[in-house]
Amino acid sequence: MTPESSSTPDTNHLNSDDAVYRTLLESTRAIPWKIDWATKRFAYIGPQIEALLGWRADSWVGVEDWAMRMHPEDRDDVVNFCVSQSQAGVDHEADYRALTKDNGYVWIRDVVHVVRNGQGEVEALVGFMFDITERKKTEEKLLALQKELEALSFKDGLTNIANRRQFDASLELEWESARSNGLSLSVLLLDIDFFKQYNDLYGHIQGDGCIVDIARTLSLAVDSPRDLVARFGGEEFVILLPQTGLPVALKVAERCQRLIRKQAIAHAQSPHGQCVTVSIGVGAVAPGAHSRPSDFIEAVDRQLYAAKKNGRNRIEAVQGSA
Ligand code: GH3
Ligand code: MG
Ligand code: MG
Repeated sequence: MTPESSSTPDTNHLNSDDAVYRTLLESTRAIPWKIDWATKRFAYIGPQIEALLGWRADSWVGVEDWAMRMHPEDRDDVVNFCVSQSQAGVDHEADYRALTKDNGYVWIRDVVHVVRNGQGEVEALVGFMFDITERKKTEEKLLALQKELEALSFKDGLTNIANRRQFDASLELEWESARSNGLSLSVLLLDIDFFKQYNDLYGHIQGDGCIVDIARTLSLAVDSPRDLVARFGGEEFVILLPQTGLPVALKVAERCQRLIRKQAIAHAQSPHGQCVTVSIGVGAVAPGAHSRPSDFIEAVDRQLYAAKKNGRNRIEAVQGSA
């Protein structure tokens, strides 16, 4: 593109078009460029590049300048992708972080068109670079928000421990894992004793506080990071112990009761030392091909019911059948 004038009216006309095109190209926010395919050198790059990245237009000499001014984490993938697409003669686009002169990064979307000569051979690449930093920022914010929401949806709002949904998901995974590895898993169901009376005596707010305190105490009773302490609902909790048989599960149940006894939350109407206590149903199972988690949980729940019936503040256990 040469804006200089020529003598014939026809070329004058062309040249004035040329100037219009150049003005158009160089006044858009998208940055136009052209690479000569044979030499891999920039035949042109819009001067707007300097405002965006700080590098002068004449410092973009060859494709290596483009590649080197790219975030190292993006470079290999983007360069390989663009080279293979160009070789195949396919129009394409790529997102990457371009290095700025002051060592920052700007997210760019490069949209590339492959120009062929009369014989169909690749002659040049032309394209536009778009600044998509704002879009990427919004995307990242949305992603972070989505993760936060996901985390929140697996947490109990009152106690901040895992909720029933998390327990159900973990049980399903651990069940499959235990089944395929031929291992046992255990579950403890815990229910605060005489909690209706506790609420009646001390009020609902203090009742909430009691649930929070018990949740914290139960979290201290497990020691493997794979163990899960969750609020099952109301004043009930559940503990999932992967790769654990009945003897160890019983020990964890006893530790829960010991820690709660030590915590000594006053409950004037409890016959068990006038303190808050829990009843615990315990079950262990080596899942078989046809056993279902829901049947197992029901069996553990029956143990909890038995613990209530047999006087509360106690543990009842069952070895589940495969
Ligand atoms: P049991 O010893 O047989 O377990 O008797 P209980 O009184 O604990 O059992 P029941 O199921 O009769 O009552 C449970 C009570 O727990 C009733 C309900 O108001 C209370 N509760 C459930 N969820 C919450 C909660 O989030 N906060 C408070 N403060 N109370 C709750
Ligand atoms: Mg209950
Ligand atoms: Mg209860």
